[in-house]
Amino acid sequence: MTQTTAATRLTILLPAGRLPLPLMAKAHALAEKYQLEIYLSTLQNLRLMGIREEDLPVIRGELAALGAQFKGPGRFPIPRVCIGVRDCSMGIGDPERISALILARFKDREKTKQKFKIAISGCTLGCPGVLTTDIGIMATRKGFDLYVGGKGGPNPKVGRRVLRDLDEQGVVAAVAELVDFHDAHTETKQRMVKLIDHPEFPYKLS
Ligand code: SF4
Repeated sequence: MTQTTAATRLTILLPAGRLPLPLMAKAHALAEKYQLEIYLSTLQNLRLMGIREEDLPVIRGELAALGAQFKGPGRFPIPRVCIGVRDCSMGIGDPERISALILARFKDREKTKQKFKIAISGCTLGCPGVLTTDIGIMATRKGFDLYVGGKGGPNPKVGRRVLRDLDEQGVVAAVAELVDFHDAHTETKQRMVKLIDHPEFPYKLS
């Protein structure tokens, strides 16, 4: 009797949705060799699907050798961004840069409690879902506005603006304060919207 092996998947984290060419070439080669599907996730990461359990260590190892980071419990969330001022005619801010500053601030953090997400837009249209994401950062003509408590799903919520006209360092500092607050008031996992009415929530809602 032929035994079927369970298939699994592997998600490669792509900061600011950028896919380095060596990783793209390796993912393509692995997909061909192991007959995998490649999926671009809603959080702008790259997922290899249909991996046989016994092939996973080799596939993971080959990608890790190129510097790939993988989705997993405790990882700080990679912000979802739009292309911003560099590639969009409406853009006034650079979400890739803000994403890089945030990720640099949290690169040594060993464990982050789930389940908040971050989105960053290059203008007030908020294409990456800034208003429906736990922490939303929106470029404006005066800097960046920060929203908290947005979410999608069956009971969507619009985020509330808690800070206006921030500079880049102000954005990073505010995200750090929110992440620390989330960590201190969350047992295992929790959306930000559950915390915005907490008496010690550090910002005033508008
Ligand atoms: S949010 Fe603004 S800058 Fe970003 S893609 Fe949409 S229109 Fe362009």
